[in-house]
Amino acid sequence: MATPQFASFYPDFYIERLWDKCIKCKRCVKECPYEAHIWDAKKKTLLEDHIKCVGCHRCEAICPTKAIIIRRHPAQFREHALWTSWYIKNVYKQADQGGVLLTSTGCALPFKNYFDHLVLDACQVTNPPIDPLREPMELRTYIGPKPEALEIEEVNGKFRLKKKLPPLLKLETPIMFAAMSYGAISLHVHQGLAKAARDLGTYYNTGEGGLHASLYEYGSNTIVQCASGRFGLHVDYLNAGVAIEIKIGQGAKPGIGGHLPGEKVTEEISKTRMIPVGSDALSPAPHHDIYSIEDLRGLIYALKEATEYKKLVFVKIAAVHNVAAIASGIVRAGADAVVIDGLKGGTGAAPTMFRDYIGIPIELAISAVDKRLRAEGIRHRTSIIASGGIRCSADVVKAIALGADAVYIGTAALIAVGCTMCQRCYTGKCPWGIATNKPELIKRLPPEVAYEKIYNLVKAWSHEIKEMLGAMGINSIESLKGNRDKLRAVGLTKEEMEILEVKHAGE
Ligand code: SF4
Ligand code: SF4
Repeated sequence: MATPQFASFYPDFYIERLWDKCIKCKRCVKECPYEAHIWDAKKKTLLEDHIKCVGCHRCEAICPTKAIIIRRHPAQFREHALWTSWYIKNVYKQADQGGVLLTSTGCALPFKNYFDHLVLDACQVTNPPIDPLREPMELRTYIGPKPEALEIEEVNGKFRLKKKLPPLLKLETPIMFAAMSYGAISLHVHQGLAKAARDLGTYYNTGEGGLHASLYEYGSNTIVQCASGRFGLHVDYLNAGVAIEIKIGQGAKPGIGGHLPGEKVTEEISKTRMIPVGSDALSPAPHHDIYSIEDLRGLIYALKEATEYKKLVFVKIAAVHNVAAIASGIVRAGADAVVIDGLKGGTGAAPTMFRDYIGIPIELAISAVDKRLRAEGIRHRTSIIASGGIRCSADVVKAIALGADAVYIGTAALIAVGCTMCQRCYTGKCPWGIATNKPELIKRLPPEVAYEKIYNLVKAWSHEIKEMLGAMGINSIESLKGNRDKLRAVGLTKEEMEILEVKHAGE
């Protein structure tokens, strides 16, 4: 008797076809990369295979007569506070296959979201708000080390700085695009991100997959990444961008490496990553040359040396228990910016247990790191870039008030280009043409569309940030940095408020 596959008995989604609207155009069959719609040529009708549906909503959105509705499957297990359907189905899947549960995107569990427990201030009566439509409002900020004091000298009656300042990144908005590699996402999305970064006066990040030849022209808005796999890393690549990010960890999967399956390594990706076509791209968990802060310092200065001290070097870590002490070591090792990626940070592929249960929320991490660096008198030597769970402009404002200099957004940028959070990026079959390299899927998202959506999103958020600053009576983003007085907590414990350094509402 064949072993029953229990997981295949219980679909997550139910494909409902409204037969009075369906014209049997077979568009759904073409659109679904998971083959959940089937054309029965003999009976000349359409069938559904509910178990294959991942809930991406592509067919529902594209159906010309709106004849499809995707619902959660009505067959639910009996309620149980401990053994929810999610846990039961996961046990079935692992009992069927004996493998690690894979997923994508960021933590899906309902942990407390601290951004939702923080409210912003607004001016009333004595300290009037500022209207950003009528008065200047500055979102410009600079990433990199700032001198403790400026030394000025007079030469021939003119004043000038005694020492040359280190390079800084000028941002016209405190929002940058997080590392997402070519391979994990399509070249079209990278092209859209790069062009949007250029037009918005900000930066996108290559991720660990190298830099495609067509993107070198956006170098002055590019941050190149140096991860443990060292894919596509050569001196032209390092010199192509304005900053180099050493990736030590990632919020969605702290403590483990990455894996781009061989089937995703196409000709173009193999050229960019400098690995053979069809070979698995495995990034080890550690950098094999970093086992101490001194080793990290060695790599930071090797990268600075290789680029003649013209590039900033960032170090990216996952937010974990001892994040403040780790960040302090990183700053002392010479990093120009510390990137902290929180528990809710997204990914193209991660074991579910890592995505959902390892790491700490970004809000607590930002505050803890900012506080520690201030206490040690080294806050000016670095910038804090926060990422992992930034969903709207208010989250950006709150992150900056907690002590970040700027934020990275990843998932929000993907949602802007159509992602429906189906959490199946690791399959390489993204129905929206985002997390895929399949030619027939990539063309669903042209680079111009990606550009327009991403550009619009950041433009809208930047406008909202200006409005919020104005409401608080602040006319520059610099004045918001670490300004926790503009925040109040609602429903947080004393301990949580102490870590965040925020008073409770009413105080
Ligand atoms: S996987 Fe997506 S395209 Fe396929 S049936 Fe489900 S919602 Fe429709
Ligand atoms: S990028 Fe694509 S595959 Fe990944 S979650 Fe979004 S829609 Fe799904």
